[in-house]
Amino acid sequence: MEPVTGSSQLSKLINRSLILHQIKQHKAISRTELARVTGLTSGTVSNITGELLQEGVIVTQGTTDSTGGRPQVLLAINTKSHHVMGVNIGGTKIITVRTNLNGDILQRVDERFDARLPVDQQLQLIIDTIEAAIPDDKVRKKIIGVGVGIPGLLDSASGISKFSPNLGWLELPIKKILQDKLGLPVFIDNSVRLGALGEKWYGAGNLKKDVIALYVGTGVGAGIIINGDIFYGSQEAAGEIGHIVVADDGDLCGCGKRGCLEAMASGPAIVRHARRLINSGRESSLRELIDRGEELTGELVHQAAQAGDPVGVEVMEKVGYYIGVGMSILINLFNPELLVFNGGVSNSWDVTGPVILKTVESRAMPGQAQAARIVQSRLGDAAGPLGASSLIIEKFFSNPSVLGI
Ligand SMILES: [Zn+2]
Repeated sequence: MEPVTGSSQLSKLINRSLILHQIKQHKAISRTELARVTGLTSGTVSNITGELLQEGVIVTQGTTDSTGGRPQVLLAINTKSHHVMGVNIGGTKIITVRTNLNGDILQRVDERFDARLPVDQQLQLIIDTIEAAIPDDKVRKKIIGVGVGIPGLLDSASGISKFSPNLGWLELPIKKILQDKLGLPVFIDNSVRLGALGEKWYGAGNLKKDVIALYVGTGVGAGIIINGDIFYGSQEAAGEIGHIVVADDGDLCGCGKRGCLEAMASGPAIVRHARRLINSGRESSLRELIDRGEELTGELVHQAAQAGDPVGVEVMEKVGYYIGVGMSILINLFNPELLVFNGGVSNSWDVTGPVILKTVESRAMPGQAQAARIVQSRLGDAAGPLGASSLIIEKFFSNPSVLGI
């Protein structure tokens, strides 16, 4: 974001946002330093910080070291003034966090979720989980909004979940339903995209401008951040890398095609590959497990690979190869600074990581492959809810009127 001159409402909002983001990033910063890093005049910095202090959004926090000049007052985000709710709804779990404006998690509530329940029961469960992270009315008064990450296709502006195969939702006005029940402003976005936003703000992304988060779990998708902003596409369907065909005559995908990345490298795909090898007569420690009637999971195949089981190793290397193919496509298309690998399958990094890196090295454009750093997510399953919280924090910093403030 660049500083703007003039006194219009818009330029004021942009400069306010610029100042708040810098204060957040620096934790504590003087007005002089703010003018330097934003490129704004000291007068503008002084006016805007004056307003923010009056509103209670920022506070003074000590002074700079007095060595080498007059000590200066440091400004910081007032973490006590406002709270934010971030929610991620997954096929098997709802995670809600309550954060302050710095994105520090103050409370986290995890609840098992069953997408086979009727929609009204699902909604009640979601509301109960959010309410469980609001201990009392004093806290409730501080909450400025609720960000919610939902899998599938959405119209985020009107707040409608258009189609979520994993949840069984169709044309569900989820924003309005939650807003009416909670009495708080609600904003929704796709959970894969919010995971990428979480990585940008709090994870490996560290405020980088061009970041991609490749999510590989039950589903596969990419959250794409270009020049600091989430890229949506014309129908909010950008990033569907899971349905790019990577294997001719590969496995059948839920979308009806064969050989999609999701059909070759997702959690359920890992199980399918392993079963096929075992059924073909290959020796594997996993066979006993199946014979005992235990349910085979991607995690168990990964554990078998860690222990050197030949079927486990072969499957995880195959999955790593396809994920590497997907990443090389993303790298060639978007030339990101950073590519974060998240979702449940990213826990297999110790086994899949070397194969992924080797595949990217051989497939992506040489210069680009070296420029893009590929890392496993540090946030784990907190990336989604933290991204949902940062959706609200970004609005508060850039255009608080949409939150009714
Ligand atoms: Zn597909």
